[in-house]
Amino acid sequence: MTVITPSTGTDPLTDLRAAVAGVVVRPGEPGFERAIPWNVAVPTDPYAVVFVESAADVAATLRIAARHGLTVGVNATGHGALPLDQGTVLVHTSALDGLEIDPQARTAKVGAGVKWQRVIEAAAPHGLAGLGGSAPDAGVVGFLTGCGIGPFVRTLGLSSDHVRSFELVTGQGDILHVTPASHAELFWGLRGGKATLGIVTSVEIDLLPISEFYGGALYFDGADAAAVFLAWRDWSLDLPEHANTSIALLHLPPLPEVPPPLAGKLTVAVRYASLADPETAEALIAPLRAVATPIIDAIAVMPYAAMGAIHADPVDPMPSFESATLLSEFNDTVLDTLLALAGPGSQSPQVVVEVRRFGGAMARPATHRSAFCHRDAGYHLFTVGVLAPPVAEHVAPHAASIMGAMAPWAIGELPNFNPGITPERISSCYDEDTLAWLSALAERHDPEGVLRAGQVVRITTPV
Ligand SMILES: Cc1cc2nc3c(=O)[nH]c(=O)nc-3n(C[C@H](O)[C@H](O)[C@H](O)COP(=O)(O)OP(=O)(O)OC[C@H]3O[C@@H](n4cnc5c(N)ncnc54)[C@H](O)[C@@H]3O)c2cc1C
Repeated sequence: MTVITPSTGTDPLTDLRAAVAGVVVRPGEPGFERAIPWNVAVPTDPYAVVFVESAADVAATLRIAARHGLTVGVNATGHGALPLDQGTVLVHTSALDGLEIDPQARTAKVGAGVKWQRVIEAAAPHGLAGLGGSAPDAGVVGFLTGCGIGPFVRTLGLSSDHVRSFELVTGQGDILHVTPASHAELFWGLRGGKATLGIVTSVEIDLLPISEFYGGALYFDGADAAAVFLAWRDWSLDLPEHANTSIALLHLPPLPEVPPPLAGKLTVAVRYASLADPETAEALIAPLRAVATPIIDAIAVMPYAAMGAIHADPVDPMPSFESATLLSEFNDTVLDTLLALAGPGSQSPQVVVEVRRFGGAMARPATHRSAFCHRDAGYHLFTVGVLAPPVAEHVAPHAASIMGAMAPWAIGELPNFNPGITPERISSCYDEDTLAWLSALAERHDPEGVLRAGQVVRITTPV
């Protein structure tokens, strides 16, 4: 269906307010604060924010923006926020908050403004689980359009492999129901292409029959980092597919929500999540428990709804700076370099330096192909720093020094961990064919380039 928005010949704000049902605000006006991203460090000064209430609102916004030479970006939570300036209208999806669970079909229909924790809590009473990421406070749709790497990715594959359909508004304002059978090329490109092909208003996903898991995290003193990292690296080389893991150097601030044993000092977290029976899962992690004395042992049988405890990512908004890369291997040089730059005595300003182990089900092709290009990656390195005194100015250069040192093993980036807007950064998420196909699809569905506002794939320059 194509929605036609009549031209009024007035300014964009008047046109938007006349055409959409949702609230339209400009920076500084009451209500604008609802659009401040989770990552409060990202400059957010759009021409206007449209709190869309329907696909028709999204379509009208895209058409009006195009007519006035503005671009359009989209946010739900701002976990992956990108800088916005006066040339861009921000579609904010928080009012698209519909959520329907179908326990018989084992599916959920999720509005674009819904966060993972809500889906997980609504599915739990039915013994069902939605495959969210490490931070269930992030948005479902933003996560899935970046493919979604959850804490069970080695066992269950990419979260986007469990998508059934999307409701999409293309860049030219067409409202489409996208499934593997209808608009198959869009179904391929929406899983990995972020907002390149349009703005998703809702998604239908599979729910899996999982009510609990064995996992959580072991926390060690920073002084044990070398021993724990070495043991984890060797142990995680040949893990069975029921087991998922990551390791992180943490330097958490002394805030009330941080457990005192972890606050204000360097610690090491070994995250673990297994869907095997608890005895098998416990036996597998036993060697890691014995490497050193954990200062907190938070691994146990847990309800699936508590899966956010595996990574214990922050929930409150923060001024964060993130950098990331996929690694081909985690050899002795990589390990030693990482510890030298971020381990004990390094004065690292990062709050998190994390390595996730991939492989398993993630490495296998899914039933329906997608624009995800790095199934063969073995590891993912992710750093997070807080842009606040006294370390603010040191965070980005230090992250760059880590990424520079990892360059020989760096094999690209994940769409979800790449809130970058330069063509080089965006290209690092894809192979050449995928870039070309995504770009060609974008030319077809967004000929005026109205979505060229952020992390979108376009290999041609605007005219
Ligand atoms: C603490 C933390 C932990 C994280 N952990 C993981 C993890 O374990 N695994 C993982 O895969 N990712 C992870 N991420 C990355 C996260 O999945 C991405 O930032 C994702 O984009 C968040 O979606 P959002 O809608 O909440 O973010 P937003 O900032 O609101 O949106 C970010 C981008 O998502 C796209 N998008 C959002 N809404 C739509 C829409 N309606 N239609 C089309 N595109 C849309 C757009 O490109 C948009 O610019 C993490 C991020 C943080 C901050």
